Amino acid sequence: MTTTERSIAAAEAHSAHNYHPLPVVVASAEGAWMTDIEGRRYLDMLAGYSALNFGHCNRRLIDAAKAQLERVTLTSRAFHHERFADFCTQLAELCGMEMVLPMNTGAEAIETAVKTARKWGYQVKGVPDGQAKIVVARNNFHGRTTTIISFSTDPEARADFGPYTPGFEILPYGDLTAMEAALTDNTVAVLLEPIQGEAGVLVPPPGYFRAVRELTRERNVLFIADEIQSGLGRTGRTFACEHEGVVPDMYVLGKALGGGVVPVSAVVSSREVLGIYHPGEHGSTFGGNPLACAVALEVIAMLRTGEYQQRAAELGEHLHAELGLLIGGGAVEAVRGRGLWAGVDIAPTHGTGRQISEKLMDQGVLVKDTHGSTIRIAPPLTISKEDLDWGLDRLRAVLTG
Ligand SMILES: *Cc1c(COP(=O)(O)O)cnc(C)c1O
Repeated sequence: MTTTERSIAAAEAHSAHNYHPLPVVVASAEGAWMTDIEGRRYLDMLAGYSALNFGHCNRRLIDAAKAQLERVTLTSRAFHHERFADFCTQLAELCGMEMVLPMNTGAEAIETAVKTARKWGYQVKGVPDGQAKIVVARNNFHGRTTTIISFSTDPEARADFGPYTPGFEILPYGDLTAMEAALTDNTVAVLLEPIQGEAGVLVPPPGYFRAVRELTRERNVLFIADEIQSGLGRTGRTFACEHEGVVPDMYVLGKALGGGVVPVSAVVSSREVLGIYHPGEHGSTFGGNPLACAVALEVIAMLRTGEYQQRAAELGEHLHAELGLLIGGGAVEAVRGRGLWAGVDIAPTHGTGRQISEKLMDQGVLVKDTHGSTIRIAPPLTISKEDLDWGLDRLRAVLTG
């Protein structure tokens, strides 16, 4: 047995099998590159599902974390701390919003958004107690808690985890007519991903987000954008909603907000919405901790320059131009996405998404499959054009070889 095989066998023996990782054991990483425990190098074209937008061990982020580690790491929200005000002020400003409610993981932030919308519905909109309804989209991915999987349409994510939380209505993604019919006086929110990542990087029809924005405004319904994966530079803009000129009532952020260093998530909204909270009504021991705030502040500073968004836009155009050339060659049926983010549908004759991912791994490129036949490409926004081209060459070789 190789050291890699031994490590994987031990992991399989002693960890729950809720994931099916590629057979690579990473020991270190820098920028867009990872090195495994046997010294092999791989180009990371997944970037932790966009948690690593700024690359592995980004110097600025590691320095910010180290400096904070030596000062104070956790206070709980029982006390104020030095970084908290700056974090909330600057994140609100980046979002063009007024208030922030920090949490840790994406799922916790979505839970926070759901609770916030319901409370807003009862206290501000005047929805009768217990009647609040939240509209979501088919094939959504918003996380893994009991409430969130209650409105998932993925049988794997849902089966045997009931009873489910009521109060959600599921509509086809992109269907405006269904949305018009679904919004009632008891609807408190529409919760959507600007691009459905987990579903295969599905981009909604042009105009859909703008129309949902107008409709929700008319009907006094909160428009919640889950930008956990699409936000913070990935699509070539700070928020994917910007591609449609849309400003939602609430952003839900996570993943890249923690710079790939620590889990940091947040709900960002107006005073009218987040102002509904009083002490004791919601919280998290680790939410908004000093280490999280220090790293996130550096992330926000990096995003303020616009440099990463621009890289994602330029390299993304190149990525999609190159991937587009593969369509019609037999192996690739469709390519979707925006910015440095693509879902590539593999023709069944050329293997499953998993098989292509494994072949790419053997060639030194790491990606992840989803829904059987799709592979997802989302390298760090810091990737060089040369490295991106190198990765695309390997992809071309695997698909045409
Ligand atoms: C990853 C993700 C989540 C859940 O985030 P976790 O940190 O894994 O809980 C929610 N929504 C979207 C769109 C995501 O990509």
